[in-house]
This record gives sequence, structure tokens and C-alpha cells, in this order.
Amino acid sequence: ENLTKHYWKGDQIVPVLTDINLVIREGDFLALMGPSGSGKSTLLNLIAGLDRPSSGALRVGGINIAELPESSLTDWRSAHVGFIFQFYNLMPVLTASENVELPLLLTGLSKRERREHVDLVLELVGLEDRSDHYPSQLSGGQQQRVAIARALVVDPTLIVADEPTGDLDRASAEEVLELMERLNLSLGKTIIMVTHDQRAAAVAHGVRHLDKGVLTDASSGPD
Ligand code: ATP
Ligand code: MG
Repeated sequence: ENLTKHYWKGDQIVPVLTDINLVIREGDFLALMGPSGSGKSTLLNLIAGLDRPSSGALRVGGINIAELPESSLTDWRSAHVGFIFQFYNLMPVLTASENVELPLLLTGLSKRERREHVDLVLELVGLEDRSDHYPSQLSGGQQQRVAIARALVVDPTLIVADEPTGDLDRASAEEVLELMERLNLSLGKTIIMVTHDQRAAAVAHGVRHLDKGVLTDASSGPD
């Protein structure tokens, strides 16, 4: 609600997002498009609780996460949000299954329970036979699927993806998009995906456009 984000450059104010009003419903799959520098990543990071707005409210299930103290915001994020990035952000010294296990290390689950969760999501992304491979031994598409498994392993309600297909060839991009569609349709995950790719946006069930920090096509959520 009425979200703004600005930075200070010396004594000059640099607006990045201006008066953003957006409703995202549970189970939506929303694509966010717009020119480079229009504020897409900034908005995504606000929605995911990685960053705070300069003003405005961010209500998720009745809680204004913009007002949560830092430690509660971190807890909320760990429990509810899965992140997928353009360049996968996998740890190169860990195997696929160890990378996927990382978010579970803070949960108090036993080693065996963690293993079960990891195996389940690796199977879900079709990489059960690659669990002992290191990222360098996997293709770009496979690395992104490991990253998706890592995002999924805590069973988040919301998945945010910042140009998840931006570094992939066409075939791998299609696989990743198909997988994201399945997360949305079969598992009911709410997904917000920043993309420059019309074909990626077509997989989503709604598209919003940002231009110079302003949502240009709507003041409410997708239909
Ligand atoms: P791209 O498509 O290139 O990823 P984007 O739409 O994701 O672009 P953002 O990364 O959200 O754009 O950046 C929006 C604007 O905010 C840019 O002009 C950027 O320079 C500015 N900006 C982002 N982070 C900061 C920061 N920490 N300090 C100052 N300005 C910033
Ligand atoms: Mg960006």
C-alpha cells in the first residue's frame, strides 16, 4: 500500500519506487516486467522482506512486515519466502544435496529428517540422481533446479524469482519455467517472478509493468 523507496545521493533524494499499490493473492503467479533500472528487483526485495520501504505498508496475511523488528523480519522471511536468483547463488564447495540442505540447518530438524526433505525436493525438480554432484559438475539449468529445490525445502508460501531464466539457454529456460508452473499449479505456491522474457511472462498468470518506479498498468492485483 502506497509503497515508496528512495535513496539519498549526498543531499539529493533519488526516488526508486513511487506510490506502489499492488494486491497479490495466495496462489497467484505474477510476472513483473520493465526496463533495466525501473525498480523491479527493489520491489521484489521489499515484498520478500529483504529490504524495507521508505514509506508505505506491506501487509502479508494481516502483518505489516515493513514494521517488524529486524529479528522477526528475518524469522518471517526464513519461514515463508523462497528465493531464486539469476545466477543460482549455489555454494561451489557443497554438493547439490548439501546446498539444498542449507536452509534446514537452522530449523532444529534431525539429520535424518533433513535428508528426507532434501531427497523429496530433489526428486521434485528431477535431480535425485545428481545429489552428490558439485555445482561445477551441473549444467546451468540443473544448477537453477538445485536452487529451486533449495528455495522449496522449507515449504515457503511465497517464492520470489529475479530473472530465473536470464542466464539460461532456451531449452533450460523452458524446463525451469515448466517447473515453476508446476510449483504454482500443483503445490499452490504463490510466485512473483521478475523477467525480461516475454515467453517467461506468458507462463505467469498475470503481468505488471514497472517504468521509472511506477506501476504503469494497474493499481491492484491480477484477476
Ligand atoms: P535490472 O533489470 O537491470 O535488474 P531493476 O528494474 O531490477 O533493473 P533495480 O535494481 O530495482 O532495477 O534498481 C532501480 C534503481 O534503483 C536503479 O536506478 C538503481 O541504480 C537504484 N538503486 C538500487 N539499489 C540502490 C542502492 N542501494 N543505492 C542507491 N540506488 C540504488
Ligand atoms: Mg533487477
